[in-house]
Amino acid sequence: MNTEQEVLIEAREVEKRYPNGTLALKGVSLAINRGEVVCIIGPSGSGKSTLLRTLNALESISSGEILMDGISVHAAKTDLNALRTHAGMVFQQFNLFPHMTALENIMLAPVEVLKLPAAQARSRAEALLAKVGLADKAGNRPAQLSGGQQQRVAIARALAMQPRVMLFDEPTSALDPEKVGEVLDVMKDLAAEGMTMVVVTHEMGFARAVADRVLFMDRGELVYQDAPEAFFTSASNERLRAFLGQVA
Ligand code: ADP
Ligand code: MG
Repeated sequence: MNTEQEVLIEAREVEKRYPNGTLALKGVSLAINRGEVVCIIGPSGSGKSTLLRTLNALESISSGEILMDGISVHAAKTDLNALRTHAGMVFQQFNLFPHMTALENIMLAPVEVLKLPAAQARSRAEALLAKVGLADKAGNRPAQLSGGQQQRVAIARALAMQPRVMLFDEPTSALDPEKVGEVLDVMKDLAAEGMTMVVVTHEMGFARAVADRVLFMDRGELVYQDAPEAFFTSASNERLRAFLGQVA
């Protein structure tokens, strides 16, 4: 475990108001250390996806500041393409390119964005497919893969950019129940290797077992955060207790 406590991502008093007037984030401040695994839980509509998307500038912010490796994410002069290669993103819907094989999906961004020679991108993609347990599926298109396999390809695709942090937005919510475990196992391996991870999830067992810290969001606010043991057993926060009571 990394004990240096070096901050990788910092959000300072972030507010996000969508053009339709919805205030999705209200003064959210947080710091995520290098090597840390942070899980975010909370009711639907509480701003979890919005927060995740602001971290790599997929979403603008209305006020406040977000720093990634000390770089101000939303500053006008920031090179967003370079910045986004630092953060790998995995969504509920896997968003693989349907006409490409698993291998081609993983090779695409390293070749197009990083300008990696094809042979190098290929060997990197093959290694990542092996890492997520899909070495024998390199030639399959998404339609020829199960949901769990597609999501593992999506994780490999994000890792191919060698990101500094992996952002997961409910990565197992669209899966059949029997496919959830295989995706969580890949994520557990990543965490054990020291990857910095921010994971929006409803999988309380995963949060409890893997997270270094769990955050609770409600109505656009970061209401409570603690280490998993304290978070799930002794949190004194009433809104969190009510939420945990509902999902338990
Ligand atoms: P969660 O991921 O926790 O379910 P979201 O971040 O998706 O929450 O949404 C937070 C709030 O912002 C909700 O009220 C939602 O309806 C609203 N919202 C999300 N995306 C948009 C958008 N593109 N335009 C307007 N409102 C949005
Ligand atoms: Mg969401």
